[in-house]
Amino acid sequence: MRLLLMGPPGAGKGTQARHVADHFGVPAISTGDIFRANVADGTPLGVEAQRFMDAGDYVPDEVTNSMVRNRIDEPDAEPGFLLDGYPRTPAQVEELDGMVGHTGHKLDVVVVLTVDPEELVQRLLQRAETDGRADDTEDVVRRRQEVYAEQTAPLIELYRERGLLVEVDGMGEVGEVTQRIFDALGDVPQS
Ligand code: ADP
Repeated sequence: MRLLLMGPPGAGKGTQARHVADHFGVPAISTGDIFRANVADGTPLGVEAQRFMDAGDYVPDEVTNSMVRNRIDEPDAEPGFLLDGYPRTPAQVEELDGMVGHTGHKLDVVVVLTVDPEELVQRLLQRAETDGRADDTEDVVRRRQEVYAEQTAPLIELYRERGLLVEVDGMGEVGEVTQRIFDALGDVPQS
């Protein structure tokens, strides 16, 4: 199973990614988590990524693409993977097509979590209090929403045209949303 989980910041991708990936026995690969781990460890990648993350901007494609390429080459991703937070730009879509095609596989499905804009802001402000993520301040949250609308939301239409899109209502309890994702994925043929 090779699937993507998309949706705006605050849609609950990270939370759902873990449940869905466990269910299918594939790794959940979150670019945001990998960047944050590198920042915490002070690696060269973390140092490079941090200023973009702190501003709410995307890390440059070359940096992100090579990081994902390396991660997908790990043996645990051979049977499949769930990508959370990648691709987010047209160049990343193209790169991912190349990575997947190279192995003779294809993407199976793209799940998009939809959440009311008001609810997104509430969730991120809540998360700011509980998790203390450096990029959950009001200005940066606003910038992340803008960048998503400009650069990433259009990719949803692209995957819709490819017939890969499954839209899932991301409002409500975590468990309810997980169940909706499983119900929606019930009919997806796995490659
Ligand atoms: P969000 O909830 O804002 O979607 P993430 O944890 O997924 O947060 O990502 C945090 C930050 O990491 C992003 O704002 C961006 O700077 C960087 N990042 C994550 N994924 C990507 C990507 N695919 N391309 C570029 N930058 C990324």
